[in-house]
Parts: sequence; structure tokens; C-alpha cells
Amino acid sequence: MRSYIKCFVLIVVSLCLYAPSAFAQHNVSKIEGSNRYEVAVNAAKRGWSTAPTVVLVGGEAYADALSAVPYAFQQGAPVLLTNTSSLSGATKSGLQQLKTKRVIILGGTASISQKVVAQLKAMNLSVSRIQGKNRYELAANVAKQMKSADTAVIVNGSAYADAVAIAPYAAKQGFPILLTDAKGLRQETANLLKSKAVKRTIVIGGETSVNQAAYQKLPSPVRISGANRYEVAVRIAKTYPMKTTQTYMSNGYAYADAAVAASTAAKQGQTLLLTDAQSVPDAIRRVIGSKKISTFTVLGGTSTIRTSVITQLKNHVLGETIFIDPGHGAQDAGAVGNGLFEKNVNLDVALKLQARLKQAGALTVMSRTSDTFDSLQTRVSKGSQAGADVFISIHANANDHSGANGTETYYDATYASANSLKLAQKVQPQMVKALGTRDRGVKTAGFYVIKYSKMPSILLETGFVTSPIDASILKSTTAKERLASGIAAGVSQYFE
Ligand SMILES: [Zn+2]
Repeated sequence: MRSYIKCFVLIVVSLCLYAPSAFAQHNVSKIEGSNRYEVAVNAAKRGWSTAPTVVLVGGEAYADALSAVPYAFQQGAPVLLTNTSSLSGATKSGLQQLKTKRVIILGGTASISQKVVAQLKAMNLSVSRIQGKNRYELAANVAKQMKSADTAVIVNGSAYADAVAIAPYAAKQGFPILLTDAKGLRQETANLLKSKAVKRTIVIGGETSVNQAAYQKLPSPVRISGANRYEVAVRIAKTYPMKTTQTYMSNGYAYADAAVAASTAAKQGQTLLLTDAQSVPDAIRRVIGSKKISTFTVLGGTSTIRTSVITQLKNHVLGETIFIDPGHGAQDAGAVGNGLFEKNVNLDVALKLQARLKQAGALTVMSRTSDTFDSLQTRVSKGSQAGADVFISIHANANDHSGANGTETYYDATYASANSLKLAQKVQPQMVKALGTRDRGVKTAGFYVIKYSKMPSILLETGFVTSPIDASILKSTTAKERLASGIAAGVSQYFE
């Protein structure tokens, strides 16, 4: 802090109340498999102990798999997948384990060959097939076999990824999923809507997926769209809510997995959200944070869902918005000593902290990301506009005596006092541990940014730039990396 703030007489309350607690994590269970066929079998086993009827679709026939979900739900059946040319080994043993008697194939011989049918019959299974000249007619023919519903879901037959997140809801409601193409409303779909006297339609995707010409021909349409498949999934979750007590997550680009996840999610009445292989997308983080989702079933092989995603889902900071305020900047250097400018140390630590928190699953907002200056008022209002869950201001200390050294964390009792204290108590020991500095404890002081921020807020004094001991630590990139990891760990613990 600046020297005039340092003159503020601090009533030092060193509250060494920190007690390590058992590390409680979000609950994440996995449905895995060495390939999509095995993943589908394991997903079916999660929802069904036995499945007298199974709906079988081609492992590459993604649009068919999507249309299959509401139909399979009405049949009380899981959706399994197979190779086109011969019955996949995992599927064969899955059918045996599920004590299946009857298989309904969706799709023509191009997606499931007659050889597969022969193999199924050789297993003493009764086999029937619903097909169509193309995916549009197939979807309509599947819908014909369903009970009549006043509503249908309309998606682009080639851009169906957007639509997978609505499949559990459509299934639960008994709404068929029908297809259009880039040219407009397909005749197969128009005929079905008419013959089933559908009164309302839910269109998934923007105008590049389902164009205005098609839209205008639909009965009472409503459109759900977004900038990408993740945003669409989030809007679906908000507009057509399902339970979130065991939220399903699958890779937004692994279509077969996603359709299978939709089938099991539908059976359990649960929400389906989508993720990247490596990291949970921001839009998905936001809905997880706002709905306070803490229990997940992740569906996919290790190539479609990486360990990094599982780690994020387990972390309580997932979906929380952390405002990071690197103190000072530009003409305001802050404390100066031993060749260090506080503003630079603060920014360096803040950027590293941002990277750590993002990696952990948080959403981050910075007051500055380069050598610029904001007033204290602006910093507070930026935190408020960000709707931040916590506010963290990062500083380094100074003193006229070079012997003063150590790390301390401040909070203020004006707003969110108890939680600010709790946050301070989680972060302070992690900083000390990371830096190996003297523990000056958690203190209270009415510094502007923590006094006027209404959310839980803390101000970190990482070390004294005027102390040769602290300065050499703060000059070390490795020490700052450890510091950022420590602060991030403390923030995660706060949310547990
Ligand atoms: Zn400062």
C-alpha cells in the first residue's frame, strides 16, 4: 500500500483461526469405455438393470441417434450403438448383460447392415427396423411410432450438435425430434407435423441452422439459439429445466456419446450439459455456478473427457466469478524498494492467479491486465458490475525499516464480514506456505476496495518490497507461481 495508508493505525487482530479441514469435493462419477459402443453399454447399465427392449442405432448415424432418444424413452429402452458391418463386441455383451429380448433398429442398411440383423437373430432376439429414405424421413417415421404430442423439436439434420442438450427434456415430455436442412423445412417433417396435428414447435439453433423460411412455416415456433453449442445447452437448461441433482456432462463434439448421455439423462430426469475435452467452457461454468450444481455424471472415454475436466468438475471454485484487482498501475507505482515496483509485482501475481483460477474452473474478471491505472472507486464498481462472488485485491507492502517483513491478509467488516474473514483465513496460510515468509496473520482495516465492495473481499499484502528477504522472494518467478497456486487453493477451499 502507499505510505499514507500505512500510517493508518492498525488494530492488529491476528486471528490464527485457520484449521485444516477434510478436502470436500464436488461429487463426480464417470461412465467410461474404450470406445463409443462400450460407453453406450455402460451408460445403459447406469439407467437400467435390465432392458427387455433396446433401441439400436449406427455408431456414426448421429442424427438418427438424436431422434432415437425420445422414442427410446417411450419404449422404456436405452439407446445402444453398433458398427455398420457387424455387431460391435461391447454391444453384443451389453445386450446379454441387460437381458434384452427385443431390438428396434433405427436406420437403413447403410447404417446397420443385414449382417448385424442376422447376428442379433442368432442371439434369439426379436428384431424390427424403422427406416426412411434419408435421415429426415427416418426422424418422421420414428415420430409416427410415438404417442401424439402437441409439441415437436426441430433441428438441422446436419447441425444436430446444438440440439443434443434438449433431448432429455424432449424425451421426458414425449416430444419427437424432427429435422430440417439448409434449404428450409423438409417435406417429410412438414407432413409429419400436419398428420400428428402438432401445435407448437421448439426450434434449436440460429438462422444458419433452421432458416427463417422454415421457421415461418412451423406451428407457433420458439427459437433457442446461442453463439455456440455450449451457450445453446445453457439456454436449454434455463428455459426447459430438468433436475440438476446428477447433472450429465458429455463432450459437445462426441455426438454418439452425447446422444447416449441424453438417453440416460432422460431416464433419470436430469440435465445434460456439454463440455470440451480439455476444459469446461465458460458458458457451462456460468450455469453450473448459477444453479449451484455440485453432482455430475461424466460420460465419455478418456479421449473425449480428459482428466483436466474431471479435476475442474470436482473443484468447488467451478463456476464462481473471482474478481482480481492488481493494486496500483501506470503513474501510481505503489511501494518501491530493492529494485521492485509494487504495481508490477501485483500485476505479475494477479495474472498468474487468473491463470490458476481459470484452470481450476473459475470465471475470472481483472480490474487491469496491463500497466494501466483505475481509481479505487472504479475498481469497486468493476467488481460489482462483474457480479463477482469474491473480490481479491493484490498488493505488496512497504515500511521505513527494512527489517519489517512478512505476509498478511486484510478484510473489512462493513459488508459480508463473516465470509470476508473466512476467505482471508483460507488464503493467508496458503500464501505463507507458498512463499515461506513470516506469517503476519489476518488483519482488519478499512482499505477502500475491501470496505466498499459488497461481496466477500480481501486485500493481500504478499510481502515487503522494502525488505531484502521478501524482495528476493518476490523477484522469483517460481515463488510467484507457487504464490498464485496457493491463493487459488485457498479460494477453492473457501467455496467448499
Ligand atoms: Zn499497495
